[in-house]
Amino acid sequence: MNILDGKEVSAKIKEDIKVEAAAFTAASGRKPHLVAILVGNDGGSETYVASKMRNCELVGFESTNIRYDVEVSEEELIAKIQEINKDPNIDGLIVQLPLPAHIDPDKVTEAIDHRKDVDGFHPINLGRMQRNLPCFIPATPYGIMLMLGHYGIDTAGKHAVVVGRSNIVGSPMSILLARNSNPGNCTVTLTHSRTKDLKTEVLRGDIVVAAIGKKNFVTADMVKEGAIVIDVGINRENSTETKSGFKLYGDVDFDNVAPKASWITPVPGGVGLMTIVGLLKNTLEAAKGTIYPKG
Ligand code: NDP
Repeated sequence: MNILDGKEVSAKIKEDIKVEAAAFTAASGRKPHLVAILVGNDGGSETYVASKMRNCELVGFESTNIRYDVEVSEEELIAKIQEINKDPNIDGLIVQLPLPAHIDPDKVTEAIDHRKDVDGFHPINLGRMQRNLPCFIPATPYGIMLMLGHYGIDTAGKHAVVVGRSNIVGSPMSILLARNSNPGNCTVTLTHSRTKDLKTEVLRGDIVVAAIGKKNFVTADMVKEGAIVIDVGINRENSTETKSGFKLYGDVDFDNVAPKASWITPVPGGVGLMTIVGLLKNTLEAAKGTIYPKG
């Protein structure tokens, strides 16, 4: 069994981003700039946004965190997004999900200028991804593809089973793995809560991507010997063992699945770190105008 080490890969890619960011700053007189909007004070969201901001500083980006009280109206939030859309000194904008129930996440996503949508959730970016055109790819699937690429894992012709069909992870992951690209060229099965006999489906996977949101959901009896296992899940549980007061668990029963897997991502230390890298890469591309020309 080999570990797909998010710590090592993300550190290496972040070094490259840092060099490119410095070149951008030298040429343009300003740093690549990411704005993150956070509504309310969900513990997980706070941690993710703080980590995104910290990583921006680390690679030489400017970062701004705009916070709103949980009661903020949809109109106020969208007005802010429209203001940021027009600001030439801001390259990327993300609105941390989930949003409170009175705010429609689709409306918010579509209000973001797709040229600043570095989360890659806007329908224009999703549509362009489907067509294999230049676009911002959703950060988590992008990070996973970068990781597979880094380890030179040959995915062509493999059967990939994705568990979970969310707009931000499972669905885009299934598209990317099926695309005519490297990594890619997989035969893909996309499964979800209505899939019949999930175990039989997952057992067919040479590659298994677990994006469900349930601790230790994928067990050893569901995984084929030698499979490549990508665990996207981040399940927080309160714990007295850690300084932070919580512990993270994946969607895969790591201890029992790892001995059967040829490659596997740990949680923490796997996909989460790669998601940040995906976001940073998108932000750099937004600043440079390589995907969507500036102006
Ligand atoms: P969602 O809740 O949006 O989607 C979960 C998916 O799992 C749905 O498609 C759902 O099916 C499916 N599912 C739920 N129960 C079952 C079941 N019993 N059998 C089969 N499928 C099931 O979650 P996300 O995609 O947003 O996130 C998934 C996990 O990944 C979470 O733990 C989240 O925290 C984590 N995450 C991690 C990131 C990272 O950077 N590492 C980034 C984003 C998310 P249905 O559609 O039928 O309801």
